[in-house]
Formats: sequence, C-alpha cells, structure tokens
Amino acid sequence: MRIGFIGLGNMGAPMARNLAAAGHDVTGFDVTGVALEGVASAASAGEAAAGRDAVITMLPDGAILARVYEEITATGERGAIFLDCSTVDVGAARTASARATAAGLRPLDAPVSGGVGGATAGTLTFMVGGDGAAFEAARPLFEVMGSRAVHCGGAGAGQAAKICNNMILGVSMIGVCEAFALADKLGLDRHALFDVVSTSSGSCWSVNAYCPAPGVGPTSPADKDYQPGFAADLMLKDLRLSQQAAAEVDADTPLGAAAAELYRRFVEEEDGSGRDFSAMLPRLAGRGRGAD
Ligand code: NAD
Repeated sequence: MRIGFIGLGNMGAPMARNLAAAGHDVTGFDVTGVALEGVASAASAGEAAAGRDAVITMLPDGAILARVYEEITATGERGAIFLDCSTVDVGAARTASARATAAGLRPLDAPVSGGVGGATAGTLTFMVGGDGAAFEAARPLFEVMGSRAVHCGGAGAGQAAKICNNMILGVSMIGVCEAFALADKLGLDRHALFDVVSTSSGSCWSVNAYCPAPGVGPTSPADKDYQPGFAADLMLKDLRLSQQAAAEVDADTPLGAAAAELYRRFVEEEDGSGRDFSAMLPRLAGRGRGAD
C-alpha cells in the first residue's frame, strides 16, 4: 500500500520502519524534520497524506490531531483509510472521524498498547473504533505493526477502550505498590508476597507481568532502576483522559480520580517525571501515613 505516516516519534518511527520493511511504500512527515531509512520524507503533513491508500497519524494529543486533520483531510484521496493511532480524548477522536468522513475518507481511531518495545517488535495491540469495513481494509497494516487488533465499535470506541484499560492499570498498579509497601512495614518478605499474590485472587498484570519490586517476579522496569517502560507521565496523561471522559458522561470513577491525582503529584511535584509508572512503589515505601 502507499502509506503516509505523520508523527515519527518514539512510537511512530518504529511503526513506520516496520511498514517499510514489510514492503509498503511509506512516506513520512514529522515537524522535527526527522528522516528514516527506507521511508521517503514529505515536506508537510498535507503532502504526506496526498495520493495515499492509507494515512497513519501517531501524535502527542487531541489538539495537535485536530490541526493535522484539518490539513490532511483536505489533501487525502477519497476512500483512503485514515488511521489515527495516537492516544487522544474520545471527543477529539469523534471530531476527527466526522471531519474525515465528511471529506470522503475512511477514519479509524486505533490507539495502541505495548509501548516502544511493542512498536519496535511489531507486537502492538490495537483498540479500534470506526466502520467495520474500514477495519477489515486496515487489517494488513495491523498485522505488520501489531499482533492483535480488536474492533471495539463505532468512532471513538478505540479511545474509550484504551482509557478504560489504562484506568484499571493505573489503579491496579497503585494498589499493588501499596501492598508491597505495607508488606515491608509488616516484615513480610517481598518474594513471599509475590509468590502468594501472583497465584491468588490479588493477581493481576501489575503483579504477575510487571512487578514493581526490583528482583521479584519476571524482569520489569523495576530491575532497571525504573527506567520506562511506560513512563509515569504517560500514565498521568491517560488517567487525565479517563477523568475528562468520565466528567463528560457523568460517570462516577472515584479510584480513577484518586489515581490521577496521585500520578499528578508524583510527576509534577515529586521525582516521577521520566520514571516508569511502577516507581510508585519506592515513593509509597518511603513514606508514612502522615505524609501529604
Ligand atoms: P513522541 O512525542 O515521541 O512522538 C510524537 C511525534 O509527533 C513527535 O516526533 C513530534 O515531533 C510529532 N509531531 C508533533 N506535532 C506534529 C505535527 N503537527 N505534525 C507532524 N508531527 C508532529 O510520542 P510517542 O511516545 O511516540 O507517543 C505518540 C502517541 O502514542 C501519544 O498519543 C502517546 O500517548 C501514545 N502512546 C505512547 C506509548 C509509549 O509508550 N510511548 C504507548 C502507547 C501509546
């Protein structure tokens, strides 16, 4: 396929490289002017989108997505798949989708999980919102960039699935870190806690696959001094999106709100920025109940 790829950052660059390596004709654009081997460079987003069968965006947020869509929906070829893989708010995804549909394009919101490692290895999971036929047309792209794509429903459903999943993840990671910090103070060995919890009703991905305690369980960012992995800053972004969505639809999410506030403090007022989101464990373990 002739593919335009806009946003060649930590995630977009390896995704574009994988598409080119699979034999697709890829033209990329990023405001930084970055050039990738095997990927042709366009001078603007509009140029990257013109005359392509599919246009993929991997951008920081909804405001930037809106600006880029204003430009590329004007140059995109009628019938082209417009696949937005950025994580943005549900409202921005639906607005972008409506704009693309009005221009005769076939939009899909398709945020990912799997991080930079998954983007590089081509093992991302895509959560996809939009038309079913467009989803099928985009399947060859999902197969190169990822190992799983789930069609979640209409426009915005992919973003909704992503923020619901990550709200669970943020809450569960805090819960796991609280348990390890409490175990320390109770004199309970961390390995013993892992052995019990990972095979009991407290088991979850945050313990079993991504244990926040260094040297315990499978290798995780905790074993590399909490280098991300999945940065606390990105967890904060996703928790904020979950709370924005919850406010818009009047959903009661008290633990999601508490998790968002805890990660906000960790990232904006403490030493969490640039660290993996599981570094919540040393933060909690180093405090007592009286700390604010
Ligand atoms: P990044 O900041 O590394 O990349 C974004 C890129 O977009 C940058 O290179 C930036 O220069 C470019 N950009 C900004 N404005 C642009 C414009 N107007 N036109 C063209 N390019 C523009 O971010 P990332 O880590 O690659 O993440 C991208 C998206 O994926 C985000 O929405 C993020 O939330 C989501 N995501 C990231 C991860 C992760 O682990 N990094 C995991 C899942 C989802």
